[in-house]
Amino acid sequence: MSAPTRSEYRTVIVGAGVIGLYTAYYLARAGAGPILVVDRGFLSSGASGRNGGGVRQQWETRATVRLARESVGAYRRFARDFGVNPWFRQSGYVFLAENGAELERLRRVHDIVASEGLPSEILDSSRVARLVPGIAPEAAVGGTYLSTDGTLYPFPVVWGLYEAVRAMGTEVLLGAEALGVRSTDGHLTGVATTKGTVATSTCVNAAGGWSRDFSERAGLTVANAPTRHEILATEPLKPFLDPMVVRARDGLYFSQTMRGEIVGGLSPPSQNPATSAMSSSPAFLARMAGALVRILPSLASVGVLRAWSGLYDDTPDGLPVLGEDSHLGGFIHANGFGGHGMMLAPSSTARVARMILGERVDLDPDEFGPQRFDGGQPSHATEALQLG
Ligand SMILES: Cc1cc2nc3c(=O)[nH]c(=O)nc-3n(C[C@H](O)[C@H](O)[C@H](O)COP(=O)(O)OP(=O)(O)OC[C@H]3O[C@@H](n4cnc5c(N)ncnc54)[C@H](O)[C@@H]3O)c2cc1C
Repeated sequence: MSAPTRSEYRTVIVGAGVIGLYTAYYLARAGAGPILVVDRGFLSSGASGRNGGGVRQQWETRATVRLARESVGAYRRFARDFGVNPWFRQSGYVFLAENGAELERLRRVHDIVASEGLPSEILDSSRVARLVPGIAPEAAVGGTYLSTDGTLYPFPVVWGLYEAVRAMGTEVLLGAEALGVRSTDGHLTGVATTKGTVATSTCVNAAGGWSRDFSERAGLTVANAPTRHEILATEPLKPFLDPMVVRARDGLYFSQTMRGEIVGGLSPPSQNPATSAMSSSPAFLARMAGALVRILPSLASVGVLRAWSGLYDDTPDGLPVLGEDSHLGGFIHANGFGGHGMMLAPSSTARVARMILGERVDLDPDEFGPQRFDGGQPSHATEALQLG
């Protein structure tokens, strides 16, 4: 398809990543078409095709724990529901503490997670060593572990959603950029794209690391800020590591995929503003290799096969932005997922779809609504466990 087949759609979604496609899926399943999804890139060209596939439920805010737990349920069913297997493997997440203060912080996370009914565990250093074979003795005084966290392959998720929404009649137009919106009296009336302008009363901003850009094209001021994050994959190794490992101090994370590669990244040393470059930098390779080898000395002679980068769509409080913009009726935010949109997608977008359908949802607008940033810093709790 090279252009929209209609002049009017019930909903237009900007971005065909996991967030845009999952939102389209729930809307289409509810019979709320016609739906048009536009993406200026190719499938998986955004963060949804560039991430580490981590799916965890260990969070500092209850709302995020609940969204993540529901997403775990959805990913467990994904292969059956979509006929495409994302190889979701519940092999756990270990958070590492290097000192007593970090362990105390993780203990507070554990208390919240356990009180939500999840089998979170506090680890001493010997248990860490059993879960992370070969870990350097000085790498952790302890940590936390949740056996039902896990990892998946992101590409089959995106492909499964793409096939499913098209089978339900949703148009997904790749190579089509959303240029802006049309509105009358503070209400959305259309979306302008490089393939023409279409009429609609609802537009979902699921543009990931470019969500700020698209909001600005719609004349809106938002708090989202894109940052560039790098990640690498080593050559395949004999399987030795089950869980995803995350270090509390600096967000170093790594897991071993089912093909044997170690895949991981490290938070940038300082604010890393977005650039259009999606490549890797020598500085990251040196930092990441050094950090990995210090924590797992046996990796010293392992080759790096690939390294790449992608954009996080960060918010000041670490929570996504979900809901209608109070300054433009019909303009719906489904963005601000930072480094965690893959794991929060199924549950968050189910709620975005319900909002679009006019149904009540169980999200506190002070925690997730776009208006929470109006007038300065939000007053509610922030989600600070932005690691891994
Ligand atoms: C290195 C890295 C590691 C990560 N690791 C994890 C992890 O382990 N677990 C996890 O849950 N999450 C992780 N994430 C985050 C996760 O990948 C994202 O939160 C998620 O993919 C966001 O999905 P999205 O659909 O919002 O954005 P994207 O997948 O980026 O999709 C947005 C799409 O919008 C399109 N677009 C933008 N502007 C326009 C426009 N004007 N017109 C048309 N199209 C437009 C883009 O082309 C893009 O395809 C990681 C991210 C990175 C970068």
